[in-house]
Amino acid sequence: MGGFNMPTDYTFQGWLGHSPEAYNGKMEWGAFEPKKWTEDDVDIQITHCGICGSDLHTLKSGWGATNYPCCVGHEIVGRAVRVGSNVDSIKVGDRVGVGAQGRSCLEADCPDCSQGRENYCPRVRVNTYDSRYPGDEGKSMGGYADYNRTHHKFAIKIPDGLPSEYAAPLMCGGITVYAPLRKNGCGPGMTVGIVGVGGLGHFGVLFAKALGADRVVGISRKASKRDEVLALGADEYIATDDDKDWWKTGKGTLDLIICTVSSAHMPLSRYLRLLRTNGNFIQVGAPDGGKFPEINVFALLGAGIKIGGSGIGSPSDIEEMLQLAVDKKIEPWVEKRPMSDANQAIVDLEAGKARYRYVLVNEKHLSETKL
Ligand code: NAP
Ligand code: ZN
Repeated sequence: MGGFNMPTDYTFQGWLGHSPEAYNGKMEWGAFEPKKWTEDDVDIQITHCGICGSDLHTLKSGWGATNYPCCVGHEIVGRAVRVGSNVDSIKVGDRVGVGAQGRSCLEADCPDCSQGRENYCPRVRVNTYDSRYPGDEGKSMGGYADYNRTHHKFAIKIPDGLPSEYAAPLMCGGITVYAPLRKNGCGPGMTVGIVGVGGLGHFGVLFAKALGADRVVGISRKASKRDEVLALGADEYIATDDDKDWWKTGKGTLDLIICTVSSAHMPLSRYLRLLRTNGNFIQVGAPDGGKFPEINVFALLGAGIKIGGSGIGSPSDIEEMLQLAVDKKIEPWVEKRPMSDANQAIVDLEAGKARYRYVLVNEKHLSETKL
């Protein structure tokens, strides 16, 4: 903890969206009210926050009306500066990360929380931003900010040996592909396709390899990404805009597809043709309005295909993933941007310029730590 001067007098400020215009790089820096403090909470001095595609959907009210003002960002890493008296798992000064979930019911009789599936809790659904806490605890506000306040269950200790700029985007982008890869048997003997090699997709390639899949196929639109995706570790690359008849050439070659694309117009039927008999297609991309392309059911019946979905991961899934990232020396491709550059960074992400995840760095807090 050398060099870390614990602040006691701090205020919550961050990049606020005030209307859907924010999505066009029009967030404004300002003070906000964090959730009401409880003794289960942790205050985090933010050093890093990744930029997720979900931040863009929310800023523009793509998933329904956003409750402005809204501070987005759910790939948060920083130091705990205040820890509630009910909290044993975290100490002041610990490096912790917060992903996309702020709270679940955590009751012993919850069918999901009691089974380590807090991310699917049907009772209390609080996202890290743009949610309302139960009772009178207020709104959740995200990590394009100086400080974050979150229930300790969803503030995960970052293992030593994992740089903060890697840990931050793992908290949402990483876990969202890691969890369905693990839960659908990714490992030796499997050929896995990752559709949409962006932020989530690049983690998909890294983790499918780290989990020991025999072959990993990156699938994106342009041939111009081929060399990068192979350099990431993919064994093969398909460019759906540029490779002629790719759905015929690759027919019946994949056991599992994880799809990060969030377009209602993606060529879903053609993606499905890439699956072998009994193959699984897991959708994680979350289109505006939840719209999914129409398909012909015979595409499923004819080969025993299953289509499913997956949402983030539980705190224990995240712990497991972070440890695997250390053990396997996973090296995400991140581009660091100063926190002051957040508006330009979201515009650049929308323009497809990220290679492959932007991470905002709160430089004034970096000097407080050695990391
Ligand atoms: P991203 O970095 O922008 O990556 C998305 C990729 O999808 C792009 O790189 C792009 O790759 C591809 N793509 C975009 N438009 C497309 C289109 N019309 N047709 C085909 N491919 C297209 O975004 P991200 O951060 O990875 O997030 C991806 C999605 O996952 C978002 O909808 C986000 O909200 C969602 N998400 C879901 C969860 C969950 O729990 N399920 C969690 C986090 C994020 P190419 O340009 O190379 O084709
Ligand atoms: Zn996210």
